[in-house]
Amino acid sequence: MIESKNPYTGEVIEKFKELTKPEIEEALEKANSRFKKWRKTSFKERADLMMKAAAELKKNKQEYAEDISREMGKPITQSIAEIEKCAWVCEYYAENAEKHLASKNIKTDAAKSYVSYEPIGVVLAVMPWNYPFWQVFRFAAPALMAGNIGILKHASSVMRSANNIQKVFERAGFPDGCFQNLVLGSSKIEDIIRDPRVKAVTLTGSKPAGAAVASTASEEIKKSVLELGGSNALVVFKDADISESVKTCVQARFQNTGQSCIAGKRLIIHENIMDKFMEEFVKQVRELKSGDPLDKDTFIGTMAREDLAEDLEKQIQDSVKAGAKIMLGGKRDRAYLEPTVLTGVTPEMSMFKEETFGPAIGVTTFKKDQEAIDLVNLSDFGLGVSIFTEDIDFAEKIVPEFEDGAVFVNELVKSDPRLPFGGTKISGYGRELSEDGIREFVNRKTVYFK
Ligand code: NAP
Repeated sequence: MIESKNPYTGEVIEKFKELTKPEIEEALEKANSRFKKWRKTSFKERADLMMKAAAELKKNKQEYAEDISREMGKPITQSIAEIEKCAWVCEYYAENAEKHLASKNIKTDAAKSYVSYEPIGVVLAVMPWNYPFWQVFRFAAPALMAGNIGILKHASSVMRSANNIQKVFERAGFPDGCFQNLVLGSSKIEDIIRDPRVKAVTLTGSKPAGAAVASTASEEIKKSVLELGGSNALVVFKDADISESVKTCVQARFQNTGQSCIAGKRLIIHENIMDKFMEEFVKQVRELKSGDPLDKDTFIGTMAREDLAEDLEKQIQDSVKAGAKIMLGGKRDRAYLEPTVLTGVTPEMSMFKEETFGPAIGVTTFKKDQEAIDLVNLSDFGLGVSIFTEDIDFAEKIVPEFEDGAVFVNELVKSDPRLPFGGTKISGYGRELSEDGIREFVNRKTVYFK
């Protein structure tokens, strides 16, 4: 039995019976036979349905958002913003998929030669709980628009949201089988990846889950995309606009109660501005309102599960034992962890070298610009980095020095349907969103007429 539990109240919201073997078989068969028809639909037909999915999300955003907040403790205003962003990605691909996937003529010695981008079939998405709707929609909107079929294995803790996502596509009028949520624990995933009807897999989640899924996929010679963890740095150079950069860094670390792969987890500050920056930073973090996730004024909810809060508390304590100092917070009450700021963090400490998935930030100082760049690249992760400076020429010059999948200047790292999203190193491979994302799961077919 899979259970959805409210981390704020401790109450069990709903229990879900896992699919049986015959039910899994039925779902895969339905997906596969739907593909044979869906791949022949026009972009216009798909786009009309995708626009209806966007309208459904907007119309019932409160209903969907409340379930997110109950299942994983996200403050309600942030849950509503997540639903609105899902509507945006649906609209974006409804409007752009045909252009992204238009055949490309290539001049050769043939009478005619071109590349066409064709759907591959049923794609499995294995998804995490931290943005229960967004992670799924950023996969599903391009996949369905490309003519593929989506099947979802969502995180066990957000199964109600997973069912709600299937409901969105049903309410929008997508034909039966275009998108199905499979109520399953992770032990059933291997067989599904190996099933010949499943052509590819995308996973957003941790490194162990990514490694397990990708190795099965590679044994079967199937394509995989991995969006894994991150330990993004926020680098504040000495000429940064302090008041603007503090505001952005607070958002970058503490939105979604810090449980975001692209959150700024390592604050790396020039030592000359450390005191001034930290005074303002701590003041703003102190003002973040903690409370009931369903309350409109709450900015910091609980973490999604008590064990996750315990893990983060341990990373904080280990770093303190190794010499870091708590400037703010540090205390835990079940799944709630106070927004926490640690200074004196060095590269061997947990707060620096591991991913910290919650409302806690480690601060490290530097003297020379090159030292800051080296600290950023020291991480095993490579999702993104934010740099803060008023000198745009300097910023342009150092962008190529970073090993990450994204560099944002004077802005927090964020996803945008128009821009590719993805990491390097142990943050994964492949890209989601934009033209790059929709082309991950297509057959780039070379066509040649003599
Ligand atoms: P997780 O434990 O890796 O779970 C992610 C998904 O994988 C869940 O559906 C989970 O199912 C499944 N799973 C776990 N172990 C598996 C296995 N051995 N085989 C197949 N499936 C397996 O991660 P999480 O705790 O939900 O999410 C937090 C992690 O996700 C963080 O590391 C975060 O940085 C990363 N993340 C990355 C991005 C990105 O875009 N790069 C975005 C958001 C989050 P069960 O729930 O049933 O175990």
